[in-house]
Amino acid sequence: MIEAGKFFVPGPTEVRPEVLDAMRRPMIFHRTPEMEALMERTMRRLGPVFGAQRPVHIISGSGTAAMELAVRSGTLRRVLSIVHGDFGERFARMAESNGRSVARLVSEPGAVVTPDRIREALRGGGFDALTVTHSETSTGVLADVAAVAAVAREQPDCLVLVDAVSSAGGAAVALDAWGVDAVVSASQKALAVPPGLAFVATSERLLERARALESRGTYLDLLRYEEFSARRQSPTTPAVSLLFALDAQMAWIEQEEGLTARLARHAAMAAACATAVARWRAEGLPVSVVAGEGVRSPTVTAIRAPDPRRVLTQMLAQGYTLGGGQAPVAADSFRIGHMGDHTVRGVEKALETLERVLRAL
Ligand code: PMP
Repeated sequence: MIEAGKFFVPGPTEVRPEVLDAMRRPMIFHRTPEMEALMERTMRRLGPVFGAQRPVHIISGSGTAAMELAVRSGTLRRVLSIVHGDFGERFARMAESNGRSVARLVSEPGAVVTPDRIREALRGGGFDALTVTHSETSTGVLADVAAVAAVAREQPDCLVLVDAVSSAGGAAVALDAWGVDAVVSASQKALAVPPGLAFVATSERLLERARALESRGTYLDLLRYEEFSARRQSPTTPAVSLLFALDAQMAWIEQEEGLTARLARHAAMAAACATAVARWRAEGLPVSVVAGEGVRSPTVTAIRAPDPRRVLTQMLAQGYTLGGGQAPVAADSFRIGHMGDHTVRGVEKALETLERVLRAL
């Protein structure tokens, strides 16, 4: 665990020295039983993180690569995008840049689109897929993916693609239980591995759709991942050093911390932030949590404040790196990324410094 962390960017997050050290191992050839054994145990350990029985594919690339795989292999013509912030919008634009026609449902900043609105939009819309961001890293909103998926299921053929880039490993993710068709994520967020690996878990339905699609591309073709993952290999030369890091971290998560404890720790870190901001506000400081109560992500908190840039500079002077604001609340907020291997005590210490900074503004 990172006891006295000072790097609270919402990805990449701080990485434990043991995980960094794992990357110092000499190279191994990727077509060997040694690599297959690494892939086997790592993919097995990723299963519960994604709530997926089927293989979780590992892509050498950032989270965006896994999003593009989901779009290329899982959508046909018309996509409904739920937009709770900047990353929901990116998913929408990605579908457009791949030639799909996209309709958006946009929430107020800090709020979520209601299932009723989604049902209404889906009715008669001819959508073959819906995109939604689980943890919207820009506003700190957590979507109720189970509820969104239940509404989408009312339609005969609307697959659900979920961006869990800033939630997997820090919030409960459940591809099978939610009944969604793709869940994508990345290494540098709540899993606390350096950036450079992306993950995608998919349903049988999405696989069937991919089989019927002609232009899935090459690097991000789901069917190639299916074929190679079945043999515990990667279609291309993987980022071997990052796989060493992932292997070390997944073993630690499974055997040392435990996934349940990990999720509870993330919830406690988020609660520490919300409680502190509520107290400061009650004491007259002009701050508030962007995300509404009941829809807050356990991995990131966006905080509204009068002069967020100054807050960041002052925190930096104390050695703390926080995240800047991002659209749609770019100018009037900053963010604390409390994900990965940070401790509740570490977050509380950061909050003590933040309180002093805010009072001195
Ligand atoms: N979606 C969300 C919710 C994210 O937070 C991010 C990264 N900040 C991305 C997608 C893009 O991921 P990457 O930068 O790894 O491509």
